[in-house]
Amino acid sequence: MVVAQQMNKPEYVERTKNYLEYLIKNDWTLSGAVTDTKGDRSKTPAGQAHPDYYLHVVDRNKDGIVVKGCKMHITAAPCCNDIIVLPTRNMQENEADYAVSFATPSNAKGIKFICRPSRGERSPNEYPSSLPIRDLNEAMIVFDNVFVPWERVFMCGEWAYAILLAYTFATFHRFTAVCYHIPIVENLAGCAVAMAEMNGISNEEHVKDKLVNIASYVETIKALAQAATLSPVRYGEIAVPSPLITNMAKLHYARSYHEVIKMVQDISGGIISTLPTYRDWENPETRPYMEHYLGGNPKYTTEERLKMVAHTHRWVASAESAHQEMITVHAEGSMETQKMMIMVEAPFKDYRDLALLAAGVEIKD
Ligand SMILES: Cc1cc2nc3c(=O)[nH]c(=O)nc-3n(C[C@H](O)[C@H](O)[C@H](O)COP(=O)(O)OP(=O)(O)OC[C@H]3O[C@@H](n4cnc5c(N)ncnc54)[C@H](O)[C@@H]3O)c2cc1C
Repeated sequence: MVVAQQMNKPEYVERTKNYLEYLIKNDWTLSGAVTDTKGDRSKTPAGQAHPDYYLHVVDRNKDGIVVKGCKMHITAAPCCNDIIVLPTRNMQENEADYAVSFATPSNAKGIKFICRPSRGERSPNEYPSSLPIRDLNEAMIVFDNVFVPWERVFMCGEWAYAILLAYTFATFHRFTAVCYHIPIVENLAGCAVAMAEMNGISNEEHVKDKLVNIASYVETIKALAQAATLSPVRYGEIAVPSPLITNMAKLHYARSYHEVIKMVQDISGGIISTLPTYRDWENPETRPYMEHYLGGNPKYTTEERLKMVAHTHRWVASAESAHQEMITVHAEGSMETQKMMIMVEAPFKDYRDLALLAAGVEIKD
């Protein structure tokens, strides 16, 4: 709606309003399909080996448009009612057919999902979790000549606005990303504190140094998320969390996440990788040895320590944690895209003018 207003086309404003009402009335879930498969990254959509590396319009008539292409890595798409499609990058005049945005039911004719399955049942080797284990699945969505009626088309050919739509979506999306990461990194910090305590190393200088670094990392994300909401910019009638601070927050957590993982691994010790299985814990022959040898700080039982080890393994030493690292780097855009937005949004001219003033040099625009 933000971009529809800026395009100055009343039909787009009307359609986005209607669609929003439709979503609210039906309580529909949406997947956001932005990322194209992109082919050769050094080339623009029009310069690719074939025209379909970016989703585009292949036909239009009085009822609507027909689109072809593929969107990649689309989280939770198979579980959502509708898909909302946006361009992933800037477009040139000769790429107007790629400047397209629309919504479609996930089961519209011509849509194919090629899904990465979720992790499924946990193996009996793993320690049971007291909380439900949730998992995401992702889909490659093929649009094989899909018809979209005009009332669900929000951009079609306005190539100069494609980047604005991508940027605006990214600002909202990165803001939610920053917020959903807060409990994830608080949990990581908790693993570090608890494992240090259980291993009896909480008062060691190097451990305190790592805990300080981890806490600073976590609290900086929280402070930036708060600051982004407290310094909104207005796009027409809509308040948007500060794009500058939101991108700084996303860059901050993506840039240092792996460092924090390394510190948690260091504090926890090798057992987070080599812990004997839960079957061994349940086996009357092996359990007494585990009970006897795998204890730590006597404030906790061996079983409590092993539960914490299993939990920490999940977050910093498992296939699932490697996936989480990938989410941190690439989901919501790779780090270079955050830097691009910081470059656009940061008040470089103000910085320069202040320095010129301080140096007694005339400001020249
Ligand atoms: C778990 C997960 C969930 C996701 N969920 C969604 C989702 O729900 N919806 C959605 O739309 N997307 C989703 N994404 C996609 C995500 O936004 C992209 O992975 C991200 O934007 C990077 O794009 P890419 O994977 O094509 O990598 P690439 O763009 O190939 O990036 C790889 C590297 O190449 C660099 N690079 C690429 N092009 C250029 C260039 N022209 N010039 C210089 N450097 C370049 C990048 O900066 C990066 O360093 C998800 C990704 C992941 C990993």
